[in-house]
Amino acid sequence: MTIQNVLAQYGPRESMEYDVVIVGGGPAGLSAAIRLKQLATQQHREVSVCVLEKGSEVG
Ligand SMILES: Cc1cc2nc3c(=O)[nH]c(=O)nc-3n(C[C@H](O)[C@H](O)[C@H](O)COP(=O)(O)OP(=O)(O)OC[C@H]3O[C@@H](n4cnc5c(N)ncnc54)[C@H](O)[C@@H]3O)c2cc1C
Repeated sequence: MTIQNVLAQYGPRESMEYDVVIVGGGPAGLSAAIRLKQLATQQHREVSVCVLEKGSEVG
């Protein structure tokens, strides 16, 4: 099935935009996400961060 057929049959996929996407919700991914948000808060900036985890639980 081609991309065109998939789009015709199911329509466009829902999508969401983030400034940063971190793949993996282990200690490294979670600490990176937390640190990014801390730095953004310190600098009075808004940063949207998404953590993608393939498992059923993060951490
Ligand atoms: C059996 C065992 C016991 C351990 N016991 C201890 C302990 O007692 N104390 C201690 O300090 N350390 C312990 N460790 C070590 C500790 O688990 C690791 O050092 C730590 O988890 C590494 O963190 P990480 O975030 O780098 O990787 P991980 O914890 O492996 O996190 C990576 C995450 O990314 C996810 N992921 C991978 N690919 C994708 C993908 N394509 N899409 C979405 N998500 C994805 C995974 O599901 C996982 O959740 C142990 C390790 C093992 C294997």
